[in-house]
Amino acid sequence: MTNLPVGLREHLAREVPFSTLSLRHEAVAADGTVKALLQTADGRPLEAVLMRYRDGRRSLCLSSQSGCPLTCTFCATGSMRFARNLTAAEIVDQALHFRRTERVDHCVFMGMGEPMLNLDAVLSACERLPDLGISHRHTAISTVGWIPGIERLTECDMPLRLALSLHAAEDALRSELMPVNERYPLTEVLDACRRHYERKRRRIFVEYVMLAHINDRYEQALALARLLDPSVYKVNLIPYNPTDSPYRGSSRQAIATFRAVLEQHGLATTVRLTRGREIDAACGQLAARAA
Ligand code: SF4
Repeated sequence: MTNLPVGLREHLAREVPFSTLSLRHEAVAADGTVKALLQTADGRPLEAVLMRYRDGRRSLCLSSQSGCPLTCTFCATGSMRFARNLTAAEIVDQALHFRRTERVDHCVFMGMGEPMLNLDAVLSACERLPDLGISHRHTAISTVGWIPGIERLTECDMPLRLALSLHAAEDALRSELMPVNERYPLTEVLDACRRHYERKRRRIFVEYVMLAHINDRYEQALALARLLDPSVYKVNLIPYNPTDSPYRGSSRQAIATFRAVLEQHGLATTVRLTRGREIDAACGQLAARAA
């Protein structure tokens, strides 16, 4: 807008900022994945990722919080200090950051933070995402199993997809990996998910990060298969992006065997493509380094 006087332009930039976020760093991986390290006006770091797929899909992974108050032991975000919940505008501005340069059509809340701890802002952002080209049906909200949030999503009129980060099929190991399990144990979480399915009739995605010699054994696959009703759940196995945590990712062979067991028991199972590994694309890796 060079047709406006410089003084007015400066005044507008100050008083009516283009975005609530500023870009601190952006990295593009060989597979086309773009990861943006963004910052709020009060200096809080957060990340957003654009994943480009061969079939043309353009999927965003958005953050709901800067840092995270939960402390999942395999997660880079969990190891950094929790700053605060993001506002709805800060969530929408992550999507707009990418939408300014290309079309986007899918979105998952699997970036930094637990979306159910900031559900008002997340749902408010979801109401606006269709204006950017992302329908409610193409939007998924992921949770560690925060039951009050699952229940609110069950009552919500928007047809949003629920994703559950499970990562273990028994309470002792799950509590070790995700201390929130002490508060909301597995059976109660799965009961809430079943009620969600009965109301919404849309299958729930189970996210299961594959950690070598921790949760990837044959008998653990069997336990998971027995736990999950194939008519309610689809499983997405996630190869682990190594962070500074003590865990290592499972081998390809271990992931293939695990998948085969689940499929033999009728569970639809996918293995997530590893995206942007060389640009620290796992949740919180860039921001944890920058914090
Ligand atoms: S996995 Fe999610 S809920 Fe757990 S610490 Fe990381 S961001 Fe928080």
